[in-house]
Amino acid sequence: MNDVVFTNVRILDGTGQNPFSGSVLVRGNRIRQVGRSTAPIAPGGATVIDGAGATLMPGMCEAHTHFSWNDAATLSAIQAMPLEEHVLWCAKVAKRYLEAGFTSCVGAACAKPRLDVVIRNAINAGQIPGPRYLAASQEITVLGGLGDETLPHLPFPEFSFGVNVSGADEMRKAVRMFLKYGVDSIKLNLSGDNFTPQATAETTWMLDEEVAAAMREVKMRGKRGVAHARSSEGVKQALRHGIDLIYHASFVDEEALDMLEAAKDRVFVAPGIAILYAMLHEAEPFGITQAMAVSMGYQVEWDAAIESLAKMHKRGIRVLPGGDYGFAFTPHTQNARDLEFFVKYLGFTPMEAIRSTTFYGGQIMMQPDELGLVKEGYLADLMLVDGDPLANLSILRDQRRILAVMKDGVFAKAPEIAAERAWDRAA
Ligand SMILES: [Zn+2]
Repeated sequence: MNDVVFTNVRILDGTGQNPFSGSVLVRGNRIRQVGRSTAPIAPGGATVIDGAGATLMPGMCEAHTHFSWNDAATLSAIQAMPLEEHVLWCAKVAKRYLEAGFTSCVGAACAKPRLDVVIRNAINAGQIPGPRYLAASQEITVLGGLGDETLPHLPFPEFSFGVNVSGADEMRKAVRMFLKYGVDSIKLNLSGDNFTPQATAETTWMLDEEVAAAMREVKMRGKRGVAHARSSEGVKQALRHGIDLIYHASFVDEEALDMLEAAKDRVFVAPGIAILYAMLHEAEPFGITQAMAVSMGYQVEWDAAIESLAKMHKRGIRVLPGGDYGFAFTPHTQNARDLEFFVKYLGFTPMEAIRSTTFYGGQIMMQPDELGLVKEGYLADLMLVDGDPLANLSILRDQRRILAVMKDGVFAKAPEIAAERAWDRAA
C-alpha cells in the first residue's frame, strides 16, 4: 500500500490544543508523521491529498450504538424484523456510520442475540465495511422491565426484544450464552425508561444478586458490563458492581455524583440525550405529540438530565456523545448532533465536545494509547472536513462536508476535493 500524505490541512488533533496548519503522513495503518509545516512531507511514491485548508481530525466515536435499530418507532417493531433482513440491515448501517466519519462505535445492545457479534466479525474479517466495533449482547432485563416486549401475537413470542431473566441463575445462563457467542460487553437494563410506560425512567428493576451474578461472569471472562441506568438508584447499582459504562444517567442525586466522581478514571457516561429532545420536540410525525411526551415524563427527564450531565462534566467525569440513534425520530448517522447538544445544554466548549468523541473515544474503545488522536504512532483513523467544526459543529453531520474518511489507513470515503470544492462554490 502506498503512503498517503495529507498536505495543506488544518490539524485538529483531538487533544484539545488549538488547530494548526500542517501535513500528516500515513504509512500502512499508522500515522507516521505529523508536520507543522504545510510544505509537503511526501516521500516518493506517496499519494498526496491536498486538503486546501480543510480540517483533518481523528475519526469520531459513537459511544452508544445500535446498528440493529431499524428506524421504527417502537421496540416491538424493531424486534419484528425477520432475522435475515435484520443482518443485511445492520451491515448497511455499519457502512453508513463509517462513511459518516464514525470510525469507532461502541455497541450498546442489539435486537437479536448474535447480530452485533456477526457484524463485528464480518467487519474485522474485511467481508463488509464498517467502523471498529465493540459487540454487545441483547438487553438483559427482568419481566415487566424495559426490553420485555414479549407479545403473544408475534410468531416467536419467546424471543423478546430483550432477554428476560428472573433470579441469579437465569441471569448467569443468559450472560454465559452471550459470552459464548463472543460479545465484548453485556448490557443490563437496571432502570426503566419512559419509552415503556409500565417501567418508567426513575424505577430500578434488577436485584443486586442478579447484577452480581452477571458481573462475576463478565469479569471472569475479562469483558465489560454496561448498563442502561436512567435512575439514580440504577447508576449507583452499576457503580457498586463494577460496571464502567453507564448509559443515560439522567437522574443522579448527590451520592450518585460523588460515586461517579470517585470512579472517574474508569467510568464513562454515554447519555444519548438526542432521543429525549426528539421525543419532546420532533416526534409528532410519528404519533407522539409534545403533550404525550410530557405526560410520559420526558420534560421532567430532560430537565433532570441536562442538569445531571452538566454537573458530571464539571466534575471531570467523561461524558461521551452518541446514543439511541436508529429510531424513527433519531435517524442513523445524525449522531454528531450530540456534540451540538453538549455545547448548547451541558456546558461543553466545542473543543471539549470534539475531544469527547475523539480522545475519549479511543479510551472507551479500550485503545487509549493508539486511537483517537492525530498523533505519530496512532492508528490512521482520520476524517477530512470541509470547514471548521469548532466554529460550526453541525458540519460534522453534513455528509457533503465530510470530504474523506480513513479507517486503519484505508479510505472508507475517498477524497474528491476538487469536485467538492466546486460544489461548495456553486452553492
Ligand atoms: Zn440505547
